[in-house]
Amino acid sequence: MKDAEKSEVIAKAYRYRAYPTLEQEEVSLGQLELCRRIYNHSIQERKEHYKATGKGLSYQDQQDSLPEYKEEHPEYKAIHSQVLQDTLRRVDRAYVNFFEGRARYPRFKKYGAYRSVTYPQITQENIGRNSILLPKIGRVRIVKHRPLKGKPKTLTFMHSKSGEWFVAVTAEQKSRRCLGEPKLSFRSPAGADSGLTKYVYLSDGSSVDNPRFIAKHQKKIIKAQRKLSKKKRKVKKTALVNEAFKVVERPSNNWLKARQVLAKHWRDYVNAKEDWQWKLAGTLVEKYDFIGYEDLPIGNMLKNHNLARSIQDAAWGGFWSKVESKAVTAASTITQKVPAQYTTQECSKCHFRHKVALSERTFQCPSCGHIDDRDHNASDTVLQKALKAYYEKIGMDMPESTPVEIEPLPPNASMMGASSIGESGNKFSMRGRNPEFASADGDGETTHREAHTL
Ligand SMILES: [Zn+2]
Repeated sequence: MKDAEKSEVIAKAYRYRAYPTLEQEEVSLGQLELCRRIYNHSIQERKEHYKATGKGLSYQDQQDSLPEYKEEHPEYKAIHSQVLQDTLRRVDRAYVNFFEGRARYPRFKKYGAYRSVTYPQITQENIGRNSILLPKIGRVRIVKHRPLKGKPKTLTFMHSKSGEWFVAVTAEQKSRRCLGEPKLSFRSPAGADSGLTKYVYLSDGSSVDNPRFIAKHQKKIIKAQRKLSKKKRKVKKTALVNEAFKVVERPSNNWLKARQVLAKHWRDYVNAKEDWQWKLAGTLVEKYDFIGYEDLPIGNMLKNHNLARSIQDAAWGGFWSKVESKAVTAASTITQKVPAQYTTQECSKCHFRHKVALSERTFQCPSCGHIDDRDHNASDTVLQKALKAYYEKIGMDMPESTPVEIEPLPPNASMMGASSIGESGNKFSMRGRNPEFASADGDGETTHREAHTL
């Protein structure tokens, strides 16, 4: 096969709202509870085995003992075997994450905390026009708000905290981007600088204000949080445990309802933000054929407690992965990530670095005398670093005459359409409203810079 014919296979995820019948819902909730028990059981088993022998159990060990377990607990025959295997795989991943230092020691899941089942191998036959076939549950109605493209691979059926059901399908499709012929020149390249005041500032001078969605949703969220904390959490109920009735502690209905309300407000907030991010990602990918952006060390930045809420709200990581996903499918745009260090301190003309005061909005290079707007200089620096990294990656020298000669900054340029979605700065100031959400505004940009460049 010729190089030019090779194309990337990419996995895309589709999420649809599902509407199981009451009966299907009951069956599914029963399966989730059984999965939760076997999840906890396999953690217990690993603990005990380690205590007794000093050795760990592997996924394979546990999978091998599944048939025996099913003989002892015939209720598990009602669950698709792949779903059970996936449950054991989740335990295994939790252990691997623990041993590799990414997570704490796996914990038992509380009643109601196991919320999804995954079918690791499905085919086109499982996908109907407006329904989805879930083995051992049945054909469940879904609303397919966008068509599913590609070859379906895995399917997850989940119950949200706010009580809705969803299916998530991953499908593999071929990207139109050909691996054999890397792009060598760009018509409209841009570097992006992210901040709390300007969500993105692009090196062509356009920018998008930070919409600060949390500010618009926090009132409802705080109210629902207060209501939830006032409800009595647990009540004594009679339940069937190991074929005998016993009095057990279960979450109270009032508490569950209040939690559902809270989850709905969080969901509204997340949906609004996600929609906005997807739209902006689409706009950027349409406008630019090369986008360089900073890899912000979000983990470090969150140590600044004053800004943590705003930084989480901005969620640049999630935003840039949406841009990458749009870019890969559109195949017309290249994205390149660069480390975020020094981008505000480096001169975009001569690359001399000097400490820039946080309050300084104008960049003045002591070496070559270059004068620029602070954000513009930073986005310019990001663009150059990104292009350099890109050409290195494809094993080419950076072209002498790149089309990257940056035009002088147009006055008050703004991203078309996108900026009207956002609202500017202080109107939604969070300061003083509630200490829980207290956050720097206005000067947020500079403080955020402090968090990751100094
Ligand atoms: Zn300079």
